Amino acid sequence: MRHFQVGDARITRISELNLDGVDAAFLYPSVDPEQVRIGARPLSAGSFDPSTGTLRQSIHTWLVEIGGLTVLIDTGTGNDKQRPTMPPLDQLKEPYLERLARAGVQLDDVDAVLMTHVHADHVGWNTRLQNGAWVPTFPHARYLASGVELDYGAAVDADDEAKANALRQVADLGPMSHLPAAGIYTDSVAPVSSAGLIERVKVGEGEVLPGFSYHSLPGHSIDHAAILLNSNGHHALFWGDVLHHPVQVTATEWNSVFCEFPDAAVTARRKALAWAADTGATVFTTHFAESSAGRVTRDGDAFVWTFIEGTVA
Ligand SMILES: [Zn+2]
Repeated sequence: MRHFQVGDARITRISELNLDGVDAAFLYPSVDPEQVRIGARPLSAGSFDPSTGTLRQSIHTWLVEIGGLTVLIDTGTGNDKQRPTMPPLDQLKEPYLERLARAGVQLDDVDAVLMTHVHADHVGWNTRLQNGAWVPTFPHARYLASGVELDYGAAVDADDEAKANALRQVADLGPMSHLPAAGIYTDSVAPVSSAGLIERVKVGEGEVLPGFSYHSLPGHSIDHAAILLNSNGHHALFWGDVLHHPVQVTATEWNSVFCEFPDAAVTARRKALAWAADTGATVFTTHFAESSAGRVTRDGDAFVWTFIEGTVA
C-alpha cells in the first residue's frame, strides 16, 4: 500500500485493477498507434511495455485522511456491475473493500465521497449488491458530485434526449463524440440518492469540505472536475480523467476513447497541466500506473511528468 503526505493530509492509494496490455489503438482511436508507441517509448516499463508495444494503466481510488475526516476521491468500478460494453469492467469480483480495510478504514468510517465525474470507473463502489439490491457502500458518508454530472447521467439512463441536449447546450463544450455509457447512474448513483446521501456540487464555487474544492475541467465528460486539497499551502490535485496515461503529458492533443467532448478535453488537459506546473501541486491521477502520483514541470512550451514514490508500507 502506497502513502503520500501533503500538508496535514495522509493520502493512500487503494488499488482496484491493474490494466496491462492496453492497445494504443483502443485507448487513442484518433491517433496513429505507431505515433502513440513512439511517444510512449521513453517511458519506464511500468507505463509502457516495449516488448508488446502496449500501455499499462491502473484503476484505483484515493483515501484522504485529514483533520479527523476520512474522504474517498472517486470509487472505482465496483463489484458485480453489469458493464457488457466495457469487458474489463464487467462483473468484477475484486477485493477492493478488503484493501480499504487493510488501510484501516471500515465502511462506516467514510465521511465523504468526492466524485470527479459520473463515469463507470469513478462511481462504482458508491454502491454494492446486497440481497439483490444496490445499497450505499458507505452508509454514513455524504456523496458529492457535480449537479450537472448527476442530471446528465440520469438523463442518459432515462433516454431523455431533450434534457441531455439542454444540459449540453448550457455546457457549450463544442462537438460531442459520444454519450457516456448507460446504466451507471441507475446502479451506482440513484440508490445513493434514494438514501438521501447525495449532495450536488456547483463546480467552481468554493470549498465543499474544509480544504477541498471542485475546479471545472470539462470535456472528458460534461462537467468533469478536478478536486483540489489545500493543506497549509500544500496542494494535492486529484485531476480525474484529464489524462489517461503519461504519454499525453507531451501529446496534449490526444484524447482517450472515453473523452466525450474532444475540443474541450484538450483545453482542460492543457489547463490542468499548466496549473499543476505553476503551483508545484502533487498530482494524483486515476489511470496512471506505477505510483500513480507525480509532479508536472515545464520544458519550454512542453510539460514533463515525474512520478513520485511516496512511501510503501
Ligand atoms: Zn476514468
